[in-house]
Amino acid sequence: MSLKGKVALVTGSTSGIGQGIAEALAAEGASIMLNGFGDAAKIEVLRASFEQRLGVKALYNGADISKGDQLRAMVEETQKTLGSLDILVNNAGIQFTAAVEDFPDEKWDQIIAINMSGVFHGMKSAIPAMKAKGWGRIINIASAHGLVASPFKVAYVAAKHGVLGMTKVAAIELANSGVTVNAICPGWVLTPLVEKQLADRAKEQGTTVEKETHAFVTEKQPMAQFSTPEQIGGLAVFLCSDAAKTITGVPLSIDGGWTAQ
Ligand code: NAD
Repeated sequence: MSLKGKVALVTGSTSGIGQGIAEALAAEGASIMLNGFGDAAKIEVLRASFEQRLGVKALYNGADISKGDQLRAMVEETQKTLGSLDILVNNAGIQFTAAVEDFPDEKWDQIIAINMSGVFHGMKSAIPAMKAKGWGRIINIASAHGLVASPFKVAYVAAKHGVLGMTKVAAIELANSGVTVNAICPGWVLTPLVEKQLADRAKEQGTTVEKETHAFVTEKQPMAQFSTPEQIGGLAVFLCSDAAKTITGVPLSIDGGWTAQ
C-alpha cells in the first residue's frame, strides 16, 4: 500500500472518473475526502463502502466547486479532520454542447467556474501546506479537449485548455518544492457525462445508444473502446508514486490514440 498515511481530496468523486480515482487511491491506502453532488443516502453508502471495503478513513464534503470559498473551506476541513492534504485531484466537471453563437451565457459562466476556476481555487488552497510539508501531488483532470477541439464545446474546450496552461504554471513554480502538478487527458470514458451525449446523439439520429456507440467512439479514437475510471485511477496512482517524482507540468493522454492523429 504505497499511499498509506497520505490524504487525498478528489473533487467530483460521487460519480464516474472521480469515483474511480478515489477508489484507486484508497486501494493504495490513502484516506479520502469525497466531494460531489448526488443523493445524500447514496453518497453515504459510497463513503461507508470506502471504510468497509478498502479499510481507509473516508469523509464527504458537498462543496460546490464553482464557489471558491466553499472549495477553500473543504480543503481546510480536509486538513483539520484528516490531518493533511497530500494529494489533490481536481476532477469535478460538466459538459454542455451548442454552437458558439447559440451558447447560453450562463452555461459558459458555469463551465468556466467549475471546470477551470475550480482547478485554480483548488490549487491555490492546497499549495501552501504541500510546500510546507515538502511533498504533494496535484492532478488536474483535463481532457483530450485540453489538447484539441471539437465543435459545439466552446466552454469545455476553453476550460480544459486553460487547465493545461495553469498546470504548467504551477508545475514550474513548484519545481523544487517536492510538489508535482500534472494533468490527465482522458479520451472517451463511459460515465454519466458521456452517456448523456450518447443518448442525445442516438435521439438525433433516430437510432439506439447501442447502435451509435461504435460510431461515437471511433469518430475520435482509433482504438474502438472506452477507457475506464479504474484505468484513469491507475494513472493517478502512478503519478503519486516515486517513479513519477520528476514528471511535472505534463498532460498525460489516456485516449485510445485520439490525439495521436
Ligand atoms: P460525471 O458526470 O460522471 O461526474 C462528475 C462529477 O462532478 C460528479 O461527482 C458531480 O457531482 C461532480 N460535480 C459536478 N458539478 C459540481 C460542482 N459544481 N461541485 C462539485 N461537484 C460537482 O463525469 P465524468 O465523466 O466522471 O467527469 C469527470 C471529469 O473528467 C470532468 O472534469 C470531465 O470533464 C473529465 N473528462 C471526462 C471524460 C469522459 O469521457 N467521461 C473525458 C475527458 C475528461
